[in-house]
Amino acid sequence: MTRTPLTIAVIGAGIGGLTAAVALRQAGFHVNVYEQATELTEVGGGINMGPNAARILYRLGFGDALDLEAVRPASTHQRRWQDGRTLQRAPLNPRCEELYGAPHLTVHRADLLSIIASGFPRERVHLGHRLVGLADKGDSVEAWFDDGVRVMADLLVGADGIHSTVRTVLLGEEAPRFAGCVAYRGLVPAERIADLGLPIGSQSWLGPGAHFVHYFVSRGRLLNFVGWTEHDTWNREDWTDRATVARALAAFDGWHPQVGRIIAAADTCFVWALFDREPLPRWSVDRTTLLGDACHPMYPFMAQGAAQAIEDGATLAACLVAGGDDNPAEALRRYERLRRPRVTRLQDMSRANKIRFHLPDGPAQMARDAEWETAGDRSPEALRWLYGFDAGELPGL
Ligand SMILES: Cc1cc2nc3c(=O)[nH]c(=O)nc-3n(C[C@H](O)[C@H](O)[C@H](O)COP(=O)(O)OP(=O)(O)OC[C@H]3O[C@@H](n4cnc5c(N)ncnc54)[C@H](O)[C@@H]3O)c2cc1C
Repeated sequence: MTRTPLTIAVIGAGIGGLTAAVALRQAGFHVNVYEQATELTEVGGGINMGPNAARILYRLGFGDALDLEAVRPASTHQRRWQDGRTLQRAPLNPRCEELYGAPHLTVHRADLLSIIASGFPRERVHLGHRLVGLADKGDSVEAWFDDGVRVMADLLVGADGIHSTVRTVLLGEEAPRFAGCVAYRGLVPAERIADLGLPIGSQSWLGPGAHFVHYFVSRGRLLNFVGWTEHDTWNREDWTDRATVARALAAFDGWHPQVGRIIAAADTCFVWALFDREPLPRWSVDRTTLLGDACHPMYPFMAQGAAQAIEDGATLAACLVAGGDDNPAEALRRYERLRRPRVTRLQDMSRANKIRFHLPDGPAQMARDAEWETAGDRSPEALRWLYGFDAGELPGL
């Protein structure tokens, strides 16, 4: 006798929630997604997709669309803030594919979200539904929304981001902490900076209390940049009220001319405050679990937040295929057991990089630069544990 597939409610249609929805649906489950926004959007510009996440997206069937829209950076290049001296440089493509069977991509967030959304039935994405509460009913979960709608599902997945309501309901209130870092983000049409002759690669400039990253997205038509600077306080009104291109230029005053040229070529620039949370002791309670930034937000200094959310979806689907019919709550606990050590390691590494990338000029910075000259720790070979990992394969099966 064939069983009725489990029904799964995914809360949040960001990169994590939608990838999980596609993976779960392809695994045979009956999935609905509930999103508070009235349209599917992603704010901000680009995103780095390591081969660990690209592998999953290709497997889910998004290879052709990614090959069209994303960019394959040839290298990653770390440089010194003032004189542009090379601190480290490593090949990315085609090396990643040779080593790990998947490329390293840089992609516009909006392109990525629409590619993933194309793999899921539009009528199963319920927009304008802000989850306000949920309750475990023993053999199901009930969820309710601000518009009065109530739904039942066998399982519920909270993919509702760093300010997750699902997390608060499951584990209690805990406000995220301002991480003392602000990002200026912008997109520049490639023709405006053509004279710089930038290679199709990713560059990071490291200086005292700040770093600046840029790479191409959208078929190479746009250069995405993010400039991180340290600040003691964050006040939304104060920041959003200002002309931020001028403010970004001031923040990187005195840096290598290439940095200033890129910022000045942007029409507009967004400011983004970085928030943080401590790693959680658990993600799952009964028939509800968490995924992505809802349970493991991380500083973007390993460029792995979205990548790990994508991995979560692949592992969750594999755990439910392996044991969901017999004991769904145990399958969720297994998913969490498999995922937590890896994301906690990345949370820790990302935090450490905030200090490492922002060292003031002096002995510690010189020691870091000397180490980087020989270590090559950003190379695909050195990141085998990260890039070579397949989150869709369960150990012991
Ligand atoms: C400047 C910057 C650069 C970054 N660069 C990279 C990078 O290069 N590589 C990388 O892998 N990661 C990067 N990250 C991290 C990455 O952006 C996040 O980790 C990722 O987007 C998290 O995805 P998510 O789906 O878990 O959450 P989100 O993208 O936050 O999605 C959550 C969704 O849930 C919805 N929602 C929230 N509450 C409710 C509710 N109550 N009811 C219904 N819906 C709700 C929201 O509207 C949203 O659509 C970067 C982050 C920043 C800030």
